Amino acid sequence: MNKIQFNIDKITRENVKGLEPYSSARDEYVSDGSEMIFLDANENPYDNGVNRYPDPQQRSLKSVLVSQKGVSPQNILLGNGSDEVLDLLFRAFCEPNVDNIITLPPTYGMYKVLANINNIEEKEVLLTQNFEPNVSEILEAVDATTKIIFLCSPNNPTGNSFSEDSIIKILENFQGLVVIDEAYIDFSSKESWINKIETYPNLIITQTLSKAYGMAGIRLGLCYASEDIIAILNKIKPPYNVNELTQQRALERVKNVDQVKEEVANILKERKKLTTVLSEIDFIEKIYPTDANFILVKVDNANLRYDQLLKKGIVIRNRTTQPLCENTLRLTVGTEIENNELIKALKEL
Ligand SMILES: *Cc1c(COP(=O)(O)O)cnc(C)c1O
Repeated sequence: MNKIQFNIDKITRENVKGLEPYSSARDEYVSDGSEMIFLDANENPYDNGVNRYPDPQQRSLKSVLVSQKGVSPQNILLGNGSDEVLDLLFRAFCEPNVDNIITLPPTYGMYKVLANINNIEEKEVLLTQNFEPNVSEILEAVDATTKIIFLCSPNNPTGNSFSEDSIIKILENFQGLVVIDEAYIDFSSKESWINKIETYPNLIITQTLSKAYGMAGIRLGLCYASEDIIAILNKIKPPYNVNELTQQRALERVKNVDQVKEEVANILKERKKLTTVLSEIDFIEKIYPTDANFILVKVDNANLRYDQLLKKGIVIRNRTTQPLCENTLRLTVGTEIENNELIKALKEL
């Protein structure tokens, strides 16, 4: 099926291949549940709930994810937000000053920022007019040192999911890694690509608890990929990158996935209502189809409308400077009360 031969050894940085990871106290003695006296990590012994180092492998949290997502713990890496997960990908696979990555603007700004921080050239291949990947141009932009192609689906700020066909063509014709950023997947009518990590050894999925799960404040990012890829990321991650408070709150939340689903259902209902009402506002020229918890609209004058809403106490995102996004605004779907305030304000303009 794959037209290319994927070889993880060929794309991993030399220094990472040879790396001996830091071995923490909690790596060297892994609890089997028996009562032990812990005098190995120089912690303060007086219990206050967080006096001990957290589990470096977040086993409790992963065990819930394993049952919900149908992958094994060796397919999961957790990080301090997706931002840390994405940064680890650069540090594991992209040689500074040598390698390059490809992004598809208009898209999430962090890929470019992380490329710049890590001194990796970022090649940009614009999405098409209807915000789909331009597959032939992407494959033409690939060279021998292209390590990662970042696909954001559903895409921020456009809101649409990319066609399955385009994603498969990229996966099957690229020898480096394909990251699908699924930050908004829980709002989407399309299925996650998580079940395809066995089919495509070069596929990496990132997700987050920051959006649908309502936990932007605790910083938890998730990465799903082959055991080989996850093993390399585990070698370079800081041992205690996901703190104890985050692990506890995340565990409670993922166990209570029904509550998350109920909130998502409400947000989708509100998104539908908003879409209908926005189509009646005369300065809104276009409402783009969305698979996420936000709506991108084209207006007559984005800067003017943005300022007018600010004066009415409503903050939205002005995307007018982004390529293909002239005079667009991005509206996050809020609560029913917030959305009604937005509608009222828009009608008054
Ligand atoms: C919001 C968002 C994220 C979330 O990043 P975190 O660091 O996990 O909060 C990731 N990717 C995209 C495209 C986003 O819009």
